[in-house]
Amino acid sequence: MHDDRSLVESRLKRVLEERIRPAVYPESVPLEVSIWTAPDEPVPVAEGLTAPRTPIAAGEQWGAPWGTSWLTVAGTVPQAWAGRTVEALIDLGFDANMPGFQCEGLVYRPDGTPVKGLNPRNQWVRIAAPAAGGEEVLLHVEAASNPVILDYHPFLPTELGDRETAGDRPQYRLERIDLAVFDETVWQLVVDLEVLGELMAELPVEGARRWEILRAVERALDVVDLQDVNGTAAAARRELEAVLASPAEPSAHLISAVGHAHIDSAWLWPLRETVRKVARTAANMTALLEDQPDFVYAMSQAQQYAWIKEHRPEVYARVKKAVAEGRFVPAGGMWVESDTNMPGSEAMARQFVHGKRFFLEEFGVENEEVWLPDTFGFAGGLPQIIKAAGSTWLLTQKISWSQVNTFPHHTFLWEGIDGTRIFTHFPPVDTYNCSMQGKEIAHAARNFKDKGRARHSIAPTGWGDGGGGTTREMVAKAARLRDLEGSARVRWERPAEFFAKAEREYSDPPVWTGELYLELHRATLTSQARTKQGNRACENLLREAELWSATAAVRARLPYPYEELDRIWKTVLLHQFHDILPGSSIAWVHREAERTYTAVTEELAAIIDRAQRALAGEGDGTVVFNAAPHDRGGVPAGGARPAAPAGGGCTVAARPDGGYLLDNGLLQAVVDARGLVVSVRDLASDREALAPGATANLLQIHPDFPTMWDAWDVDSFYRNTVTDLTAVDSLEVTDSGPDAVAVRATRTFGSSRAVQTVTLTSGSGRLDLDTEIDWHETEKFLKAAFPLDVRADRYAAETQFGHLYRPTHTNTSWEAAKFEACNHRFVHLEEPGWGVALVTASTYGHDVTRTVRPADGGTTTTVRVSLLRAPRFPDPHTDQGLHRFRHALVPGAGIGEAVREGYRIGLPERRVPGSAEVAPLITLDHDAVVVSAVKLADDRSGDIVVRLYESGGGRARVRLAPAFAYARVDRCDLLERPTGEGGTELRLRPFELVTLRFAVGGRGEAPR
Ligand SMILES: [Zn+2]
Repeated sequence: MHDDRSLVESRLKRVLEERIRPAVYPESVPLEVSIWTAPDEPVPVAEGLTAPRTPIAAGEQWGAPWGTSWLTVAGTVPQAWAGRTVEALIDLGFDANMPGFQCEGLVYRPDGTPVKGLNPRNQWVRIAAPAAGGEEVLLHVEAASNPVILDYHPFLPTELGDRETAGDRPQYRLERIDLAVFDETVWQLVVDLEVLGELMAELPVEGARRWEILRAVERALDVVDLQDVNGTAAAARRELEAVLASPAEPSAHLISAVGHAHIDSAWLWPLRETVRKVARTAANMTALLEDQPDFVYAMSQAQQYAWIKEHRPEVYARVKKAVAEGRFVPAGGMWVESDTNMPGSEAMARQFVHGKRFFLEEFGVENEEVWLPDTFGFAGGLPQIIKAAGSTWLLTQKISWSQVNTFPHHTFLWEGIDGTRIFTHFPPVDTYNCSMQGKEIAHAARNFKDKGRARHSIAPTGWGDGGGGTTREMVAKAARLRDLEGSARVRWERPAEFFAKAEREYSDPPVWTGELYLELHRATLTSQARTKQGNRACENLLREAELWSATAAVRARLPYPYEELDRIWKTVLLHQFHDILPGSSIAWVHREAERTYTAVTEELAAIIDRAQRALAGEGDGTVVFNAAPHDRGGVPAGGARPAAPAGGGCTVAARPDGGYLLDNGLLQAVVDARGLVVSVRDLASDREALAPGATANLLQIHPDFPTMWDAWDVDSFYRNTVTDLTAVDSLEVTDSGPDAVAVRATRTFGSSRAVQTVTLTSGSGRLDLDTEIDWHETEKFLKAAFPLDVRADRYAAETQFGHLYRPTHTNTSWEAAKFEACNHRFVHLEEPGWGVALVTASTYGHDVTRTVRPADGGTTTTVRVSLLRAPRFPDPHTDQGLHRFRHALVPGAGIGEAVREGYRIGLPERRVPGSAEVAPLITLDHDAVVVSAVKLADDRSGDIVVRLYESGGGRARVRLAPAFAYARVDRCDLLERPTGEGGTELRLRPFELVTLRFAVGGRGEAPR
């Protein structure tokens, strides 16, 4: 037989494109269109519906960047269409090659009820089926002219990412706006041919199935009369029935399709636009659920539900109904799909608390899967947090984006730093925007690494980010893929159904221990430094606000600020979204985030101040509050004492070389004439921390122009070129003792200026390093280096509720790929008996490298903290302007001191007028056991919640001394629900997290 395969395949492509698809709408008439453009930001629906319109026609331009236009479309269904299915086709100027990231619309009826969204691949609105003929059509469209930021020339700097700089040039041109007859038979023929054509292309040429499909397609095309597609489509479909009815092989891979639209809570659009994106997509999906009885849709991020509830109550009512029917699934159980590298311990926990609580309160639903398809790596502390929140499973797809190493499993147990194991699935379809194409389904089946032991995978299916979600075409394709020879089998299923089956079939899955490091997007640990600092500041202030408010509620009967704290937590959690905290959003998002953090910071400071003043009592002395989890300067952890005089004993002496010697009796530091730290001696051990001849606190600048993803990525070649910033403009003593000594170096480089202050404080084993930078570079990476005289194969980096270890060498590609990594408040290196910590107040990115010195054979391990970058996409002015950083070097530190100084640097003592001594609510007798939160229970019962964890990686036996009356104490989950009897004597596993709830009921009056 002659091989005419490519001829038939080319014929199929052309006939589908030029004849069959156009015949889906065989007849149409134009609708009348009029428009009103809101002068500024979006207006309420009622205002948009009634605003005065002016006529506009197809072909005309509309839509300044970020504008909102209200369109009215009107017409009459022709009498001749009686009995036919009629739809409106509204093309706002979409580019169907890019299903999302552009203009969008939401269609309303004249009474203001929403119908569905309009998206690049979802431009239809059903008018009548069957039509009577003569119906009047009147619809309104709220159209958002969001500009395209990431287009076919990606990563070029653009000013479109902020309304203030975007200009007013129209972005779109109205295309077809018609009333049309919808021929369902032709539409079904299109889906038949697409499914078979796409499947055929994935099948082996040697196999009979491919040829059977080819011949059936050929027969169908022969039957189609190209001048009468509508009249012959049914006959063409009959030619395809047999090949579509042939069942899947018994060993076929099983795909649980989950309707989905990954909607970033902010990214290439501001937060306010996400509110509308979610409403449009949810309107589409609730409409699709009504039409398609098998379909199931999952939407994550409680925040997005809260937005619909507040801003589009009619859409929310439809969502609530579909959730009650079990077909619209609140997925994930987090407030947002957050970053998981950078959020602190408590914040990571609260993502689950607020997410799960919202789903429970609104829908009575508690889901067990964590849904994070797009997050940029997963910290080793997360498994324990997932479990403590009452969840069981994790889904992500992102690790498939790694640049170097291919992850060995798709379904496995992920083991966290404390030993908690979470059943985890990476969808082998390698996308969270599956569209049911043959190549995606075939890729999932081929790619699945657990074949032979497991058969199930998930495919999140639908266009995200303004693409509108799952389409009726995807649902129609999935129906044909239920049981089709040559294909994986596809079923619509809820995530929990998938996980239950997957867990059942795979009793002994492989285990991956430690963080899930994404070998990409490493620069998200540094980009947009002010956003990151805002996050860290708010996390610290929230700890203080809860601690002092709870203490004041118990000790001074001050009302606890439940409402404020709930609202502020949700704001902070929102900003941990995986494109906000990582710094990968447009300028608008980060400009707003900085403003929001400032407002939240002020509000929290006021809450703290109110509580402390209530506790500090009368008198004209000074009371010192210590919110850190360890006693400090005679002030107990979580308590307050009248101020004691400072210890003194700090000296600074000029050196002949023009530098200075700083001494506080614990440490001696030498700063040379260039303002560089050349010696830090730990006097107790008489050991030098720095490598011989090395300079520390050394600013180093690299060119930083990644191959793509500017704000996200730093590529390994950035290290090939480096400039040490050693030139100094001035060096001066700014504090000369006795309570503190400090010297300050000022340097200029490029268009920027740095002021570095080195401080020793009385009684402190910490060398404080403050850096102020007025940053005006572009495409550069700024680091501060600390070359340490330590030989260690691994170092510790703090993460949520503990720390994890990373190698300091690059033996394998896995280690080499971790050339930029995350820490929270410290990195720590040690040789047996002596260690050193570098403590970070607000930075996350760092790198650790080592060299062996030829001169003495010793090893220099260099820790560098990442300070600033200056990518130009998506925010062309990223990080320009003034920044302040604080770090500290702690020579002689064990892991316990690293933990302690990490807390202290972010939680400085507060001094308040008064004279009272404030006993801590809770006291512990074990240094490694750290209190993470003290608060009143969220249910407003007045119960006191204390969360603590073992921070050293060892076992601990600890006794708690609560200094308040309570009736009983229970262990709880993160949602403060009792899980078992608690006690005040605990034995903790390494890094074990425990939440205790002290019930105050029955013993006097509860705190308000
Ligand atoms: Zn995303």
